[in-house]
Amino acid sequence: MAGINLDDTVMTTRLDAVVNWARKNSLWPLPFGTACCAIEFMSMMASRYDFSRFGAEALRFSPRQSDMLLVLGTITNKQAPILRQVYAQMAEPKWVVSVGVCASSGGMYRTYATLQGIDRVVPVDVYVPGCPPRPESIIFGAMQLQKKIEKETLQGRREHIEQFYASMDRQE
Ligand code: SF4
Repeated sequence: MAGINLDDTVMTTRLDAVVNWARKNSLWPLPFGTACCAIEFMSMMASRYDFSRFGAEALRFSPRQSDMLLVLGTITNKQAPILRQVYAQMAEPKWVVSVGVCASSGGMYRTYATLQGIDRVVPVDVYVPGCPPRPESIIFGAMQLQKKIEKETLQGRREHIEQFYASMDRQE
């Protein structure tokens, strides 16, 4: 059509790219706080660090309304099935951030009562080191998750979850 420059009116992109852009900028965190790391998370959400700058200010304490599970603290073996159930109740797509050494590996609690890493019961996307990690570290972890989401394909995410559950089934 005469007079219309397509460069000004048409934008092309991939479906994965536009979906991932929306997903990474509208994360809905669910804090699973059991110990001291949860205090750092509270600080991260407050005005000084202001996690809402990353599009993730809407905390939800219902797994059905969340897509970013943050595990903050020591998880005992008795809590492990609860954590797994909370994860199962979240709708896809969903991501898991393990915050602090206790959640990631059991930390200094090498005891029969402590889960030696939450990746034994849920698929972890990002591990944040530290005891406790400072709010900046948790924010950095969340930014790593955003980068990961940006590169995902819709099919790849589904396969990631299926592979995790298949590995769990082999262990049982
Ligand atoms: Fe507490 Fe350190 Fe464990 Fe975090 S990693 S829950 S700060 S002992």
